[in-house]
Order: sequence, then structure tokens, then C-alpha cells
Amino acid sequence: MTTYNGKCHCGNTEWTATLEKEQQSHVLCHCDTCKSLSGGTYTLNQIIPKSALTITKGGDNLGKYVYYGDSGSPVDCFYCKNCTTHVYHHQHVLGEDTIILRTGLLAQGLKDFQPAAEIFGKVRLGWEKEVATTFETLPPS
Ligand SMILES: [Zn+2]
Ligand SMILES: [Zn+2]
Repeated sequence: MTTYNGKCHCGNTEWTATLEKEQQSHVLCHCDTCKSLSGGTYTLNQIIPKSALTITKGGDNLGKYVYYGDSGSPVDCFYCKNCTTHVYHHQHVLGEDTIILRTGLLAQGLKDFQPAAEIFGKVRLGWEKEVATTFETLPPS
């Protein structure tokens, strides 16, 4: 396991994520929500246990809002109240102890990780090249 440091855009919020070898990679999400949140074409993520994430600075000042994903199940979004960077998401459909971490916000992870999979490939933009195994929506569970 390796511990990675993350921080938001303004620096008010910082965290560490301790990741197993197989979690040291990016899952590219092309869904329309990720496009809207990022202003880009996809986001970089990993599914991890909640206990693997520690908010080391600004944790008591995180904002939270809820939206309803494709599954109809709630997704809690936790973000820095100052700069609005999303630190992590909790998709209730995945269970209470599982969260979605933004691997692109881990400075060393962004440099070192490789793409492991692409999800919501059905809405990947036509000019984007496939870089990892692509699922139309989510991988079969
Ligand atoms: Zn911030
Ligand atoms: Zn997405």
C-alpha cells in the first residue's frame, strides 16, 4: 500500500489516500455528470473504502450536496467550500463504506497512474481515443 497526498485548488482542503496496488490507477468516467462537474471530457477516479481516505486539513469545512445518479440512487458530493473542488463522492448504491476518490487530485497519482478502465463509454466523445478497456456504462458486478 502507498499513501498519496491530495489537495483542492485553493489549498484550504488536504487529504491522504492509502491505496492498494490494484487501486493505483485511473478509472476514466465519461458520464455526463462528470463532464458537467469538470468542464472537461472525463474525470479520473478510483473506488476505495472510506477508511482509506483521511481529510488532513479543512475537513470540518467541507460542503455537501446530493444529486440522483443514473441508478436513481443518491450520490453525496463533498467539496471545498472555498474553491468548490470535489474531494470525493459517496454513491449510496455502492454501500455505506465505499467512496469514489478523484485520482486526478493526487499529485503523485496523476503523474504515475495509468488508465485501468473507461466507464460510460457510450457517451465518450467521438474524437477521443480508447486508452483502456471500455464499458458502455458500469462494469458488470
Ligand atoms: Zn479549496
Ligand atoms: Zn462520471
